[in-house]
Amino acid sequence: MEQMAKRALVTGGSRGIGRAVCLALAARGMRVAVNYAGNAAAAEEVVQECLRRGAPDAFAVQADVSDIEQARALVAAVSERWGGVDVLVNNAGITRDGLLMRMSEQDFDAVLATNLKGAFACMQAVMRPMMKQRWGRIVNLSSVVGLRGNLGQANYAASKAGLIGMSKSAAKELASRGITVNCVAPGFIETDMTAVLPESVRTALLGQIPLARLGAAEEVAAAVAFLASPEAAYITGQVLCVDGGMAM
Ligand code: NAP
Repeated sequence: MEQMAKRALVTGGSRGIGRAVCLALAARGMRVAVNYAGNAAAAEEVVQECLRRGAPDAFAVQADVSDIEQARALVAAVSERWGGVDVLVNNAGITRDGLLMRMSEQDFDAVLATNLKGAFACMQAVMRPMMKQRWGRIVNLSSVVGLRGNLGQANYAASKAGLIGMSKSAAKELASRGITVNCVAPGFIETDMTAVLPESVRTALLGQIPLARLGAAEEVAAAVAFLASPEAAYITGQVLCVDGGMAM
């Protein structure tokens, strides 16, 4: 059974949506590698919870995916332990919000480096072995902001729109090898990332959500787990919004 269990790598798996994705994949019997940037204790807690929920194996790997060498070393570490990767979820993401007029080059570069280049580096590193085995699932966490734009988030919106274009290109390049590449675009989800928003912004955002509530990380994770499953074999190059109807 353990031999057959799919091998999943989730970037930014220590908190929020990434944590929920790790647990959802574990509950489906996958082995789970939990990547994190700095929060080792949180990542270890996710590892233990993955094992409790049914993962045949789970472990934490520190790597800053914005550094291409570290992203490659991350994939190498997972491949070394399991002999390959079947499912890659590019979830690691940051915000450095500010109006375009005042946005610094550093804040622009930092967001693009983690959110877009990090996903590029991890995809490129898993691609060759996935092509060889003729099976793979790649799910990239975009955002409704990448579809619609958002005040104060030009860097973040660019990174999330970039992920969509990159995923569609990869979907076309990899389809013949049995590898699907899709995006999940969450709306406004209750995590550390959104906890910092002032009450006035939360109230204004709620007014734009037909389902009139914030989403839960588990609701995003369920969509990711579906796209990572064998059942989703005929879906590629898509963007699945999990947003309470916000972006329709
Ligand atoms: P979060 O709670 O802030 O967690 C971010 C995760 O990413 C953490 O595990 C963090 O690791 C990791 N991380 C950050 N920079 C990293 C790096 N350079 N290398 C490796 N890992 C890194 O974020 P979230 O709200 O769960 O969001 C997860 C994803 O969904 C992001 O891509 C985000 O853009 C997207 N999203 C979120 C929402 C929302 O409403 N929350 C909406 C749309 C899209 P440490 O714990 O070690 O810091």
